[in-house]
Amino acid sequence: MLKKIVILLSFCLTLVVALPFSALAEKQFTLVIDPGHGGKDAGAVGKKAKEKTINLNVALAFGKLVKEKCPEVKVIYTRTTDKFVALKERAAIANRNNADLFISIHTNAVPRGKKVYGTETFTLGTARAEENLEVAKRENSVITYEEDYAETYAGFDPNSPESYIIFEFMQDRYMEQSVDLARCIQEQYTSYAGRQNKGVKQAGFLVLRETSMPSVLTELGFISTPAEENYLNSERGQRQLAQSLYNGFATYYKKVTKHLGTKVAIAEKTEVDNTPAVDLQPAQAPVQEATPPAESVAPKKQVATNAKPVYKVQIFTSPTKVKSSDKRLKNVKKADFYKDGKTYKYTSGSSTNYNEINNLRRQLSKRFKGCFVVAFLNGERIDLNEARRLSK
Ligand SMILES: [Zn+2]
Repeated sequence: MLKKIVILLSFCLTLVVALPFSALAEKQFTLVIDPGHGGKDAGAVGKKAKEKTINLNVALAFGKLVKEKCPEVKVIYTRTTDKFVALKERAAIANRNNADLFISIHTNAVPRGKKVYGTETFTLGTARAEENLEVAKRENSVITYEEDYAETYAGFDPNSPESYIIFEFMQDRYMEQSVDLARCIQEQYTSYAGRQNKGVKQAGFLVLRETSMPSVLTELGFISTPAEENYLNSERGQRQLAQSLYNGFATYYKKVTKHLGTKVAIAEKTEVDNTPAVDLQPAQAPVQEATPPAESVAPKKQVATNAKPVYKVQIFTSPTKVKSSDKRLKNVKKADFYKDGKTYKYTSGSSTNYNEINNLRRQLSKRFKGCFVVAFLNGERIDLNEARRLSK
């Protein structure tokens, strides 16, 4: 009898110990990708593009990469077509599916006349800067498209600063993971796509409040800035942003799954995309930005925000735009071009350090005879001597 009890006990104990581990090992990692807006809600609108379309294109391309490179991850979209989905439903999709991660994809805008460049990724929290509160207000105001929104969101008024007091008393137990993911994504926007980094920030987003897993809301760029709109609306821009999101996700995913002890195959980070820029914002010569430092959660890699001259090596010119597969661009580091009248001028390298670029010029002169150093300030070509004076 005693023997039987012991066997039974040890059997139960085995079950208790083994179950959670096997449950963990077998639970499929689920990623919910949320393309912001849709249908009657266009989101921010630029001169030619709409936020809802940019968000959807980038989201689908990002999800496709995850499916290809991490087939063991379950990818769920909150929408895959141009349809309206209520904010609460987006979060509910993630909660119902017991998701491990929620990434909401959006495009930024500021009032006309202002030119702002770059990406920023938010986690749930209290906005300490007016600028961040404005982003939350704009994104939360989509609830007004929903009938009974006052009831559904318990009287939350997206445009009243008072409504945001609730976020001050809120505890986010996934804060640490969310900030980590946001950093991974921001880092990749800069290192992979060369985008200006506006940092990891916090604000009161309803969609993040409703989710019960690590979650971020990322803003791909400013549709209200013409050069950024061109980039966001281009095939190349969307491909680069999707790849940056994938790289950021993969970095985070690798860390998390290692922690759980499961074996996962993750594709290595892709090489930096060096195809020449089309309508690209001056990522290498960032515009001066007044970002209150108190708000940023220490982004790891901040692109210099002071306007400093940027040096490049001009290698050849062409009366027409050349294809990225052109022989002359093969193995050219940081290939780019700028337009001078009707001429396309191709460059290599990009640095605020003149000596570094001058060394690159020496190397390149074997292949491109007569290549020379050119300087830019805020994306505009300036006199080299003037640039060197400004550098000092
Ligand atoms: Zn949005």
